Amino acid sequence: MTHAIRMKEFGGPEVLEFVEVELGDPGPGQARVAHTAIGVNYIDTHIRSGMYPVQLPSGLGGEAAGTIVSVGEGVDHVAPGDRVAYPMSAPPQSYSEECVMDAKGIVKLPDNVDDETAAAMMLKGLTSWYLLKRTYEVQPGDWILLYAAAGGVGTIATQWAKHLGARVIGVVSTEEKRELALAHGCEEVFLSNSDIVTGVRELTNGEGVAVVYDPVGKDTLTTSLDCLRTRGLFVSFGNASGPVDCLPMLELAKRGSLYATRPVLPNHIATREDLEWGSGELMKVVGEGHVKIEIGQRFALKDAADAHRALEGRQTRSSTILLP
Ligand code: NDP
Repeated sequence: MTHAIRMKEFGGPEVLEFVEVELGDPGPGQARVAHTAIGVNYIDTHIRSGMYPVQLPSGLGGEAAGTIVSVGEGVDHVAPGDRVAYPMSAPPQSYSEECVMDAKGIVKLPDNVDDETAAAMMLKGLTSWYLLKRTYEVQPGDWILLYAAAGGVGTIATQWAKHLGARVIGVVSTEEKRELALAHGCEEVFLSNSDIVTGVRELTNGEGVAVVYDPVGKDTLTTSLDCLRTRGLFVSFGNASGPVDCLPMLELAKRGSLYATRPVLPNHIATREDLEWGSGELMKVVGEGHVKIEIGQRFALKDAADAHRALEGRQTRSSTILLP
């Protein structure tokens, strides 16, 4: 017997239950992982609420680090005793002491990346990687605008963008988060209730930014579009305030032939090659110290509901992990 967070229905944090579960042996292509640290991501709150529906009853969580317990037939890239991590299990199940999952989604950890760091960075770091290097290839000197700059993805993406030579303008909700975002390398940080468009235009000599990375969604759509330069790219990658359900094409035309995309991690980490490529680059920038992974808060696995309350209440900073 082992323990896991399960949910029988969609809803608020209270639907998360810490229960005993029976785990089978890994089948062909699978591995059993004993978790040492588990990543908490905003997407987990969307799965819990039913915005991103899964079949119920369900586990929760995509990201964790731990040790391989056993492997099924045909698995040769990891072996019992290996320290490993993964960014997104399918179905969601990383909020657990142990899990059995598709071994293709698992990578070995180098000695210079500890388990807590890995759990705090796999999903958020690979998201930062694809946003900055694939969705749009950030160029030295580019101005970019990034919301939730003091959050999990935000602190990683800011440091990585700076390492690539970009100039990051952050947006956050409080003075304390503003200090944190500046400390992670933002050139300037605006509070979400300020006149962001005027501030961005002033900083960029009236031109606007090359790309806007917007995980907030509904509430920030117009501001995001207004901050872009001619032919700039609007990257809507999250729904913290609710989804963007309408973007008239003429709004892109009248602001200067803008581009827009709504990317998700599974399309950018679609193959084993993508996973190895992205996680190799992530381990490198972290290993060389260009990107520091900060864990803002730790919760016991059984208290996953409290972690969700803090995340949805905008009370967290940097990454959040659960400890089994
Ligand atoms: P964060 O640590 O960034 O926490 C979310 C932050 O969003 C909050 O701290 C808050 O920062 C900000 N926010 C803005 N508006 C709201 C609101 N109405 N309610 C709550 N929070 C709000 O989370 P993650 O690092 O886990 O994820 C960041 C975003 O990236 C999420 O939207 C997530 O869904 C998205 N994402 C998308 C992926 C993809 O592939 N498309 C993959 C991974 C993450 P502040 O108080 O400073 O405004």
